[in-house]
Amino acid sequence: MLVGKPFLTVEQIRSRVKELADRISMDYKGNEIIAVGILKGAFMFFADIVKLIQVPINVDFLVASSYIKTRTTGEVIIHADIRENIKDKHVLLFEDIVDTGVTLKYIKDTLLVRNPASLKICAFLDKKTHRQVELEPDYVGFAIPDKYVVGYGLDYDNKYRNLPYIAVFKEDSSL
Ligand code: 5GP
Repeated sequence: MLVGKPFLTVEQIRSRVKELADRISMDYKGNEIIAVGILKGAFMFFADIVKLIQVPINVDFLVASSYIKTRTTGEVIIHADIRENIKDKHVLLFEDIVDTGVTLKYIKDTLLVRNPASLKICAFLDKKTHRQVELEPDYVGFAIPDKYVVGYGLDYDNKYRNLPYIAVFKEDSSL
């Protein structure tokens, strides 16, 4: 058994995602957002939260990776860039999890040179213990301890993304 019982349940996730969406709707009232889902990990979170945000949204995606199995490679690769022109637009990035912060810092710096009116980050999970760069998400679903988690879009070796909850993953069988 590699995946433990739910660490964040479907119900906890549902209610927190609604809270985040309400907060974002309030903060961006009167504005349009370019909402960028960072794939693959954020696909489930992104699909859930955009349904609940009450301001006009222009949806886009960016595909990036820096992890092999459970370790960051430190090198960020953008496999597919956004298609929207973000100059003078309000951009909100949706990420599954911030760990070292390297991935999002790279993506943020890459997009900032295109001169958006604003660029903020909404991370479903935040693991602060390994942060290597200065990066603070503007919206966070849950701050979690230093554990490797899967489910709700997050993977181990591209598996477990379809679990509807978050579980702790271990490479041994001692759960
Ligand atoms: P960072 O660059 O902040 O170290 O890592 C960000 C990326 O690493 C995330 O988008 C995610 O793909 C992956 N990652 C970091 N921690 C975890 C984790 O606990 N579980 C999974 N499945 N992926 C993680």
